[in-house]
Amino acid sequence: MLIACIEIFLYMKILIIEDEENLLHLTKSELEKEGYKVDFSTTLKGAIDKIITTSYDCILLDIMLPDGNGLQVLKTLKNLDKDDNVIILSAKDSIDDKITGLDLGADDYLAKPYHIAELSARIKSINRRKNPSNKSGCFGNVCILNTEKKVLINNKEISLKKKEFEILEFFCNRINRLIDKDKLAEFVWGEDFDSMGNYDFLYTQMKNLRKKLKDSDASLELKSVYGLGYKLIEKENESSI
Ligand code: CA
Repeated sequence: MLIACIEIFLYMKILIIEDEENLLHLTKSELEKEGYKVDFSTTLKGAIDKIITTSYDCILLDIMLPDGNGLQVLKTLKNLDKDDNVIILSAKDSIDDKITGLDLGADDYLAKPYHIAELSARIKSINRRKNPSNKSGCFGNVCILNTEKKVLINNKEISLKKKEFEILEFFCNRINRLIDKDKLAEFVWGEDFDSMGNYDFLYTQMKNLRKKLKDSDASLELKSVYGLGYKLIEKENESSI
């Protein structure tokens, strides 16, 4: 899955929440040069609107915003049950902010002024920590044989198309994580996705894959989370969803 891992890195989506325009545009253009897709907001309200509708691989979060405290973003993510990576970027050299931020689920903290190279290294490190490379393994009665590109359910091989295999492998390495459909589409189809203009092909692949899992009595189920994306769950955990 080397190609897939590179793809997921190349299309990583970043949200910069920052009201200092110069710093915002400098950070944005430097990260874009490195191949990230970058959204931004200069206000707390704008940021919260974005995190409700989109999942980001990494959110760069300033604390002192014109319309409120950036820590509110972490509380909102928690309420939404989202696990976007967050790096707090703050000039305010306050140990309280740092501790509160990490308590609220931030992954890292970088004091301003920062070097873009260090910021980029932190983004990559968090992403590696949270998205381990896909690996072979059994998840309930579903076994992924990565090298052979085969899937066994109850020890019987099931027939999957190439994209279906990639999708299943992707989810098996992210069990119980909500994956939004943009992220999934970018992972599976890369840049081609933008030119397709709609999600029909994605829905078709997901429908076929879900049917194959069900027909083979898989102990895993791909749940659709309305308006947000999909989650692979173990069936016995269904009641906790
Ligand atoms: Ca600020």
